This record gives sequence, structure tokens and C-alpha cells, in this order.
Amino acid sequence: MESTLKRTWAEIDLDALKNNYLKLRERIGSKTKFLAVVKADAYGHGSVQVSRLMQELGADYLAVSNIDEAIELRHNEITMPILILGHTPKEQVSQLIRYGITQAVTCRAKAIEYSEAAVAEGGILKIHVKVDTGMSRLGFLCDNENFETGIDGICESCGLPGLYAEGIFTHFAVSDEADDDSIAYTKKQFGLFTDVIKSCEERLGVPFAIRHCANTGAVANYPETWLDMVRPGLLLYGYGEFAEGLGLKPVMTLKTNVSTIKYYPEGTYVGYGCRYRTNKWTRMGVIPYGYADGFFRCLSNNCTLMTSEGPVSQCGSICMDMATIDLTDKPGVDVGSDVEIFGKHNPIEVMASKAGTIPYELTCAVSKRVPRVYLRNGEIIEKELLLRG
Ligand SMILES: *Cc1c(COP(=O)(O)O)cnc(C)c1O
Repeated sequence: MESTLKRTWAEIDLDALKNNYLKLRERIGSKTKFLAVVKADAYGHGSVQVSRLMQELGADYLAVSNIDEAIELRHNEITMPILILGHTPKEQVSQLIRYGITQAVTCRAKAIEYSEAAVAEGGILKIHVKVDTGMSRLGFLCDNENFETGIDGICESCGLPGLYAEGIFTHFAVSDEADDDSIAYTKKQFGLFTDVIKSCEERLGVPFAIRHCANTGAVANYPETWLDMVRPGLLLYGYGEFAEGLGLKPVMTLKTNVSTIKYYPEGTYVGYGCRYRTNKWTRMGVIPYGYADGFFRCLSNNCTLMTSEGPVSQCGSICMDMATIDLTDKPGVDVGSDVEIFGKHNPIEVMASKAGTIPYELTCAVSKRVPRVYLRNGEIIEKELLLRG
């Protein structure tokens, strides 16, 4: 572990995470519950540590994408409610019940399977009904001519033995976009969601305990959608265009360390494909950070990293395990100096946009050979290497 630490590592600032949670809590008020989305290893930040802090701070719910992620949390002291957003095969319903995990139910057929499995198990499976209001992915279709069959399916599912329908939710497709069409689309999705809830509650005669739909964009832009619970992911980690304005800070800072410096005359080709040619006498640094660590190869010759003396350009093709950076005008940056790939001093949003993607993909791509170093009150409290020891 120690041996890998000075290569490339991800600092996870739990103080920033706490700040973000508290700021968002303050924003939504005390009546609205807070679900922290910790799927995909908490977007690469480490779901166990993130969830422990959420539990300690009094968050109400966690969400993951599958049962393996949920059980990992249960095996690591997480006792708070956990919702699985994706599919779980009916064979695993007994585990859901045993571990006290809430399952999204996305259609009538699955509700029936889950009900049968729960009854056979002699237990009660807690479910949240997923409504498809325009994402066109998972959920009961309820738009236009599907409205009545959608309501029928939801109400039938909620009444099945062995199931307790605690919640109902939907997911927005464009709540983070500011153009008029996106605003209209989001409002339409929300309108349909509230219509569905109203019809179901009338028919069932009982309200859903937890109605939720607000992802990052909606937490930032649509207070009317917060309902009983909000469900942010990206915002909690402090990224995206809304983070700064809400006083949120990036939680991950990805760092590497200069391992070699070489000097090349003008006209020297650098790296695979000879895709970079020095245009001056160049002092070139090698960093042990490549696409196997999560450095998108499409960023080759097209991104900037941050040193103690300011930004430097990445030069040449990004390799599997290494990349080269131009240190010519940064004489104080030497072998052994730290370089920030993205984080507090080098916004991930810029790098994501140059890679033609979104910040989510960059933090999720930080691979298992990059150790996570957890900081609390500015001090390292834990180092985690995901490679097998
Ligand atoms: C991932 C996910 C979220 C969180 O999305 P962000 O954009 O990160 O806030 C919320 N709800 C569902 C259903 C999701 O899959």
C-alpha cells in the first residue's frame, strides 16, 4: 500500500463531503428527507466511507444500483435504509429481506415475482415503485394512453402480499439543462409524476410514505420537485455547474507525482503514434498516470494538469500507465513533485468537457489500482487500495 501511494492516488476529502451534505440539507429544509446516491462505489469515492459519514450525519436513505453494492454496505456497519435503483433477480429476494434492503419495482411482472418470492420466504419486501415519466428506461409507463394501465399496474403491485410499498419515485432526463425545451420537459415529467401519485393514492386509499424524484439538477433548479425526499449524487460530491454557487466543494482530488524528467531538442517526437513533436527545447516530465488508472486517452494532447507553479500541458499519446507533461517553464516542479490531475485546483468539469463527457464518468473511471486516501479534519484517517493484498 505505502509503495503505491506516491504513484497516483485519490484524496477523498470527507470534510468537503460533510460541508456539501450540510449545505444541501440546509437548502432542502428539515422536512425533506435526504437520500445520498452512493452507487458505483459512490461515483468512485468509496461507498463504504461515504455511507458511514452519511449515516453519522443523519442522512435518511442511501441508493445503490444493485444488490452486491447494497450488501457490501450492510457488511460494513451501514444500518440505515438502502434502496436498490436497478434490477434484482427474484432468486435474491430472500437476501433483500434478510439484509433489510428496499427494492425498486419497475413493472407489474416483477412485482408479482417479488411478491411470490417474499411470500415463499415468509417475509415482507419493502419496495419503491418506479414510474417512467419520460426517461424511457425503467419504470411503469404512465404517459398518455398508458395512464390507466400504468395506474392499474402500480396499484395492483402495491396490493400484492409480501410487499410493502413505502415509496414511489421517478427520474428526470434533463433537469440539469437550462434551455426552454428542457425546462418544459422536466415540468411535464413532474406534472405526470404528481398525477400518477394522486390517482394511485386515491385508488389505494393510503398515501405513499416517501415520494421522490429530485436528482442533482432538480435539487439545484426545481424546489417544487423535492417532495418527501431528494436524491442527489453528483451535487453531493461537489461537481457540476451548480456546485460552486451552492457553496459545495469537490470531494475528490486526484494526484500523481513526477517520476522522471528528460530534456529534448526541438523536433523530437514523443510517445505512441508520434502524435506530439516538440516545438522548442523541452523539459518533459513523465507521470505514472495512464488510461489504466482512468486517464481518458481521448485527452491526449488536449488537457491541462496543475502543478505548484501553475498549469502544464499534457503532451503526446496517453499510455496505459504513463503520460508526459511539458515542464519547461516550471523549473520548481521536479522529480517527486505532486501534480493535480483534477480536483480543488484543476476543475474536473473542464477536463470532462475536453474529453467530451461529464464529470461522473471521470470519477467513476478512477481505477482500482489508484488508492483512495481519506482525509478528515485535514488528516489522513484511512488508506484503501482496491487491489487484492
Ligand atoms: C444516479 C441516479 C441519481 C443521482 O443522479 P445525479 O445526477 O448524480 O444527482 C438519482 N436517481 C436515480 C434513479 C439515479 O439512477
